[in-house]
Amino acid sequence: MKSKQLIDYLEGRFPLYLQESYDNSGLQIGDLEQEVKGVLIALDCTEEVVREALKTGCNTLVTHHPLLFKGIKRIGNQNAVERIITTCIKNDLLVYAIHTNLDNHGEGVNKKISDRLGLINIRALVPVKGSLYKLTVFTPLDDVEKVHKNLCTAGAGAIGNYYGCSFQSRGTGTFTPNNKANPTLGKANIPQRVEEVKMEYLVPKHLIGAALNAMHQSHPYEEVAHDLVLLENTDRNLGSGMIGELPEAMSEPNFLNLLKIAFRTGVIRSTAPLGKPVKRVAVCGGSGSFLLKEAIQQGADVFVSSDFKYHDFFEAEGKTMVADIGHYESEQYTQELLLEIIKEKFPNFAVRITEHNTNPINFL
Ligand SMILES: [Zn+2]
Repeated sequence: MKSKQLIDYLEGRFPLYLQESYDNSGLQIGDLEQEVKGVLIALDCTEEVVREALKTGCNTLVTHHPLLFKGIKRIGNQNAVERIITTCIKNDLLVYAIHTNLDNHGEGVNKKISDRLGLINIRALVPVKGSLYKLTVFTPLDDVEKVHKNLCTAGAGAIGNYYGCSFQSRGTGTFTPNNKANPTLGKANIPQRVEEVKMEYLVPKHLIGAALNAMHQSHPYEEVAHDLVLLENTDRNLGSGMIGELPEAMSEPNFLNLLKIAFRTGVIRSTAPLGKPVKRVAVCGGSGSFLLKEAIQQGADVFVSSDFKYHDFFEAEGKTMVADIGHYESEQYTQELLLEIIKEKFPNFAVRITEHNTNPINFL
């Protein structure tokens, strides 16, 4: 398998357009045509992780946090990033990062966190805009089934847990081929009226290319009349953070205990308990203070995230309890998630998780 196949698969499921504007997800270093010998997964691309990859014969490193994040003006050996770049290039080690596009996906980092807490009825806390399009195709009656099947196979017409969703209405299409046309129906300069079906589908942004291809391949006309329109609708599974409910409400001390066990930590920095049961829970893996207002607005009893600064805690204002469980702790299961994602498609492939705990923070 070439690196390109692995990356096409990852980006097909977790498209790069889902990443935040400040991010640099995607290929960091390496040759897409290289054969993948083995994949090592880590949260961070540290020097010890790179050494482990080389020692274990893995020539592909998939990390959550991008190695190349800020601008790099020289590649020497003065700091870890510079040395890692040099080592990777010298040793043909490909480095790939799947960061906020994994955070902002309904099967990503926050789903894993929600699952650890047993949350139900989950959805994105702040859905991304611009992720959904409406495709309308006008098709002669006899070809409707074929076009419909092809479009659905390409991923058009999926809404939540339903697939094959479309609306089809009959009407009359009119056209007149000119002298240069090669029409399937009719003759040059003779006006045509054809019974057609207007077929409408929701298409997620990253599948537009595939859907248009499927449409053109199965549609009988030389010129396919169609509309592609960006919608204001959002997908509840795509966006920053996640919110859901515990199956049973629990007390705040019990919930904090659950957090400690679920995220294998002895330390949680939280705002004062509010003295009410916890039922609705918002989560955000990694630095999530930017979502605090939204968590409050949506009635979260607790907001579980990390990297809260002193003044950020004040902004909870007694409206929700902030529980800062630590950046590494909140994202630690992302490594397992990546292993599962890759194994799902390539079950026989040599994929492993790093043996190193890359958390740079030490608790005494
Ligand atoms: Zn992170």
